Amino acid sequence: MASTSSGRMAVVTGAARGIGAAIAVALARRGIGSVLAVRDPAKAEPARRDAAALGVPCTAVRCDVTDDADVSALVGHVLEKHGRFDVLVNNAGQIAPIARIADGDPHDWLRNLDTNLAGPYRLLRAALPALARAQGAVVNISTGAALTPREGWSAYCSAKAGLSMLTRCVAHEYGAAGVAAYSLQPGVVDTDMQGLIRQSGMNEISRIPRAELAPPERSACVVAWLADERPEDLRGQELSVGDEALMAR
Ligand code: NDP
Repeated sequence: MASTSSGRMAVVTGAARGIGAAIAVALARRGIGSVLAVRDPAKAEPARRDAAALGVPCTAVRCDVTDDADVSALVGHVLEKHGRFDVLVNNAGQIAPIARIADGDPHDWLRNLDTNLAGPYRLLRAALPALARAQGAVVNISTGAALTPREGWSAYCSAKAGLSMLTRCVAHEYGAAGVAAYSLQPGVVDTDMQGLIRQSGMNEISRIPRAELAPPERSACVVAWLADERPEDLRGQELSVGDEALMAR
């Protein structure tokens, strides 16, 4: 199904695969083009092609969210090439290190915070003036683990809890300027990240009633809906998608 391009442009971080790739396609279905902010643009080609086939602009730009220079170059590129920045989806994330607090390497722990929390902060810092001009939307991809600890996940849980609060801070500070900010917990989704969790000997699937992984398209649809509709009464809030709200804690 071809979309009608609205001219709106999004940046989706970590969109080479998994949930981020599905978000770019879901945005395209709503007529929103994307710049895929990825570490390796060649790997993002399937996602780029799928989104562009829906009739919106879609390009992949190299950007490691832990790198200040990459982030400011990315935002400069979006504004220069498209003249607008309507939607920011902070999706790039990492689960590693999985280690109990006293056992892990502190550098790995901080690296996790750099990706999952400081990364979104860098993007927001660079993009918020343009997002305010566009009366745009921010969707930060959080997790149920932001609320409930998992053994060995202290970096991930802490970073994502911080990200949820960062969403509320954006809504608080920039809501009056017209920026709509939301967090989303995607559920237990069939991506490489769940593969890594299984490899570490943990079983998230056993915690959900239907005991099956959700396809990334489900949470991606909700992200695109939030970005497109910017629901007034959900601003600053964290939404749970799929089985996330039903999981045994
Ligand atoms: P994947 O592991 O499949 O994808 C993660 C993506 O993030 C990859 O494309 C990866 O890039 C990118 N990324 C990691 N670090 C960086 C970085 N420094 N700079 C730029 N990109 C980076 O995971 P998911 O698709 O499952 O995860 C997407 C989001 O959803 C994450 O924020 C995750 O925490 C969250 N989430 C996922 C759940 C699930 O069940 N899958 C549940 C709850 C939350 P590269 O391809 O280069 O490695």
